[in-house]
Amino acid sequence: MTIRGENQVREVIGIFMISNEAARTAGQCRHYSMCKIDYLGTGLCPAGAENHFVSYYPQGRMDLVKAVAAGKLPVTERLVDIADTCTLCGACDVQCHFISELRPMPVMKELKKHVKEHLAAGKPVLPEFDDTSLSSNDPLLVELRGITGPRWASNDPAITTAYFSDPCPVTIPKLPRAVVLPQSAEEVEGIVRAAKKHGVPFMVRGNGSSVMGFVMTDGILVDTQRMKTMDFDADNWCVTVGAGVPAFDLQKEAFARGYRVNVAEPAAMVCANLMCSGIMSLFSTTYGTLDDGYVDAEFVSPEGDRFRLKDKRQPDLSRFALKDQPLAGICTSVQMKLYPMTADEEGFLVPVESLQEALVFVRELSIRRIGFGLGVLGADYISAFMSPSSTLARAVKEFTESTLRAPFMVMVLGDAKDRAAVESMNRTILSNNLFRTLMLGLPNLKPAAGDLQDTLTDILQPLGDADGQPLSDLLARSDLQPLIEAALKPSPETHAGAVPEDLRAAYARLYARPEMTDLVWLNMFRILSSRMGREKHLLPLIMYVPLDKPEVIGALASGLKRIADSLNLKNDFGFVSPLDLGKRAFLEYDFYLDQNDPDEIQRSRMALDAAAEFIEKTSASVTGVQWIRYTLNQGCCRKEYLLYSI
Ligand SMILES: Cc1cc2nc3c(=O)[nH]c(=O)nc-3n(C[C@H](O)[C@H](O)[C@H](O)COP(=O)(O)OP(=O)(O)OC[C@H]3O[C@@H](n4cnc5c(N)ncnc54)[C@H](O)[C@@H]3O)c2cc1C
Ligand code: SF4
Repeated sequence: MTIRGENQVREVIGIFMISNEAARTAGQCRHYSMCKIDYLGTGLCPAGAENHFVSYYPQGRMDLVKAVAAGKLPVTERLVDIADTCTLCGACDVQCHFISELRPMPVMKELKKHVKEHLAAGKPVLPEFDDTSLSSNDPLLVELRGITGPRWASNDPAITTAYFSDPCPVTIPKLPRAVVLPQSAEEVEGIVRAAKKHGVPFMVRGNGSSVMGFVMTDGILVDTQRMKTMDFDADNWCVTVGAGVPAFDLQKEAFARGYRVNVAEPAAMVCANLMCSGIMSLFSTTYGTLDDGYVDAEFVSPEGDRFRLKDKRQPDLSRFALKDQPLAGICTSVQMKLYPMTADEEGFLVPVESLQEALVFVRELSIRRIGFGLGVLGADYISAFMSPSSTLARAVKEFTESTLRAPFMVMVLGDAKDRAAVESMNRTILSNNLFRTLMLGLPNLKPAAGDLQDTLTDILQPLGDADGQPLSDLLARSDLQPLIEAALKPSPETHAGAVPEDLRAAYARLYARPEMTDLVWLNMFRILSSRMGREKHLLPLIMYVPLDKPEVIGALASGLKRIADSLNLKNDFGFVSPLDLGKRAFLEYDFYLDQNDPDEIQRSRMALDAAAEFIEKTSASVTGVQWIRYTLNQGCCRKEYLLYSI
């Protein structure tokens, strides 16, 4: 049906009042894409897994409901299908709560209700433009559909709307002219050539979780979701993965075969993460970053030609330039390195009183090659990761900073020999067992009003007062473990007590699984890290820094703090992780904002401008300080060009 005139458009869009609860929840979606991977082992959204476009996943549905509430989305054939394919299975409710504390089910129900009422009223539905006789048809779309098959290219607003924007305050929203989901490198070649022929720009997207406005285009949006190949080559210690393989899925397959890969955020596509930031994780301590992590990769150039990095020809993507670079091509697959693991791996935490002390200590570990993964974490991260709610995270942070007087912790992932080495350095070690006790007993850190039982602080404080030992040392003492356990009563059920009643059984089942409190597993699969954006959306500021100059790192952190404080924005130290035997490191400092508060959006833009100027200035005057901004589109470059030659 062809829609003519404003009245008919209004009829197609309809007037639908979204409930406050649904509108509020939809507006809070962070676009971290965790609902697009089965990171809890509780099942993936069946509609998303089958149909791949973002709109079929919970994240996309949130954006659609936002658009419906704003009166900006007509009822189209795709919208009807999207609403229809949601089974209301509830998988997204647990997944989303785990990360963000949001409950998206009212949003999912509201979308179905909206479409149902529209259809029941006999109102018109906009067709998909797949009829070549339609004058409204786009010849570009027809060509794209010829390449991928009609199902996988669309300009239906119910599809394009989910690719329109993200919560970053500097993102410029753009509605793609078409979204296309290729399945192979050949199809990518065809798409790029079609874009060239029609003179239309294109942009490639993984899961869109960079959340910095990088994946917006008014041209063709190439979503790599369907490029899910994984080929293991054990003899060569590598695995070749297609552009649509997220880190979590790759790590899971590698782990099942007894290997590890160096990947970071679980929802990030491996190819996207490589091209965006070069992949940085605590494992970068040993496995490196940028070109360290891969053997070879295949690209389709902006002209539509396929090439491999190892080919002796242009473009040479191992080079690095200290300036913003355009997309070098679409990475269609990457051959990632596999690493061996040992049976005695474990993680533990070393509490420290100051950032300077932590930096000196972590550098020493790195120089001595102790630990295969190292990081200095702030209390903000530790508490957010451990806690299933923001309220509890605040209590844990206060306990860590004020009671334990450990505003920083050095996380060590190592084997039994690494642990013995750290013990020989006379350091307090909070073992993985203790971490498990704390995590499973967290809700009892501050018992409910009226509960007269001794808290952990009640137990530790008098002992500390008596013999002058720091409370973090007492916490680690083996003879005190029974008392600590008695105070915290750790169990999956205790942990689950901190979440809404209807989710407790699901949380208790999750926390009955040993990997959920295993520091090595948690770092490999990173299922907790996006909790850092739970209270407010986060704006990470990431730099390469010289680890032999802890005062520079301290000055960068305090300079960024000053900027955010002066604009009244939440901010905190994130992490430092050593690189290249302690010569360099990553530093992440985070600003946070309420993504729906216009005033806070404005202030965060000012903060980002000031931070950019501050980082550039420091970078120009201190060797070894580089902003990660320039890694975008250059993530497969030779690490040394970036770290040492500028
Ligand atoms: C909470 C949080 C924590 C994070 N922590 C880390 C971290 O510790 N370490 C880290 O490395 N990153 C981290 N990131 C950043 C994020 O993981 C990366 O930006 C990653 O690239 C996102 O993957 P994606 O698939 O969502 O990419 P997208 O957001 O879809 O794309 C990112 C960029 O890569 C380009 N791109 C996508 N696919 C391809 C391709 N096939 N070929 C060429 N270019 C492509 C896009 O055009 C875009 O410019 C974090 C992000 C969040 C939200
Ligand atoms: S309730 Fe709907 S959107 Fe959520 S996971 Fe199930 S099918 Fe997907």
